Amino acid sequence: MTDILAPTISSPSAASTAVPQERLILTAIPGPKSLALHARRLKVVPVGVSTTLPVYIDRAHGAIAIDVDGNQFIDLGAGIGVTTIGHTNDAVVAAATEQLQKLTHTLFTITPYESYVRVAEYLAEHTPGDFAKKTVLVNSGAEAVENGVKIARKYTGRNGVAVLEHAYHGRTNLTMAMNFKAAPYATGFGPLAGDVYRAPNSYPFHDGLSGADAAARTIAYLEKTVGAADLACLVVEPIQGEGGFVVPAAGYLPALQAWCTANGVVFIADEIQSGMARTGVYFASEHFGLVPDMVLSAKGIAGGLPLAGVTGRAEIMDSAQPGGLGGTFGGNPVAAAAAAAVFEQIDSHNLLAEATRIEGVLKTGLEALQKKYAVIGDVRGIGAMIAVELVEAGTPKPNAAAVSAIAAYAAQHGVLLLTAGTYGNVLRFLPSLAISNELLEDALGVIGDAFATL
Ligand SMILES: *Cc1c(COP(=O)(O)O)cnc(C)c1O
Repeated sequence: MTDILAPTISSPSAASTAVPQERLILTAIPGPKSLALHARRLKVVPVGVSTTLPVYIDRAHGAIAIDVDGNQFIDLGAGIGVTTIGHTNDAVVAAATEQLQKLTHTLFTITPYESYVRVAEYLAEHTPGDFAKKTVLVNSGAEAVENGVKIARKYTGRNGVAVLEHAYHGRTNLTMAMNFKAAPYATGFGPLAGDVYRAPNSYPFHDGLSGADAAARTIAYLEKTVGAADLACLVVEPIQGEGGFVVPAAGYLPALQAWCTANGVVFIADEIQSGMARTGVYFASEHFGLVPDMVLSAKGIAGGLPLAGVTGRAEIMDSAQPGGLGGTFGGNPVAAAAAAAVFEQIDSHNLLAEATRIEGVLKTGLEALQKKYAVIGDVRGIGAMIAVELVEAGTPKPNAAAVSAIAAYAAQHGVLLLTAGTYGNVLRFLPSLAISNELLEDALGVIGDAFATL
């Protein structure tokens, strides 16, 4: 591979010197400047764009975000798994800055440029499978899902799209129909796209099924309600994101893939949240021995810049006719340069190992809390993608109130902690791979205090 895009600027980004890696709370949360900004926002931004925590962030680096009032938060969400290699990573900032000075846009489908090709090469190399692969770059995760489905339909000549319970795939028209939760993603926004079939998934904490039994249930459902002959694709998140970091039982996903392969159904892994080094491998499919026909990436791919990709078997990807794929901003040069730097950083700094380190610290801390607090029903996940499902003590019943209380306490004490789950009863930990053990332990201390005050 060429080195044309290797960043030549090696000095640290401005943010790296201006953001100490420590937690510090100076004001009430939200502070006065955040409250003033929020009042402005409420007048001009619609309520549909909701806000979990009206704390306005001014700058960030590594695992710390600083708000406009000077409060320093340990960021356990990384913008929902986007700044995976750390906020304002020096190499990503350098690559994007250099690209900004050279070229910001041509439209790849008119006159192309190298960074797009380079990202496609990286994706071909790092997604599972040793066959020829091709990639189309787009702007968002939902757009990647849309394109994956489009291509699978063209390739198979079939219409049906199968998804799983508790799935989340986006907020565009097609993806609204593919999500499990209607509210808030689809309520009132119909008509929804047709030919989408939602099958039961594997959720070991609740269904107690083996992978083989759960797969037999999923397959029986699909054969009965749609029939393999009418299915273009099955779209799965190897570890479900929004649904609450549901890790399927061993053998479940390979059985689904085998059924897809036997029936000519394109097997698509939505790795938008679970991919890009998040779980200690490039793509979580590897943990399950999957070799998807198509892999969707977005979120962590470009260090915070908007970019997404559909990578698949060359013969599937080439079934779309010239002009059928693309869009004005898809694979923007600045975002693509940032993405190339992300891949380069993961490879040269062995960041996959950081995800495994983080899993060790988080699971040890959270499992110790589970022994103390009966509201913690399940601790699960892989790498830097860990979840805690809260229940009413001694039952499997969801406890969303406890999740809200813990997240609110954490925010007040300088820890940004995300929630998830179909019933809002899951705390999700998606720290950046740049977070130190010291910061993780500090955050776990705050979360322990939060459980103690429940
Ligand atoms: C976030 C997400 C999407 C949608 O991505 P956007 O960039 O928000 O459109 C799709 N699938 C999964 C698994 C996601 O986590």
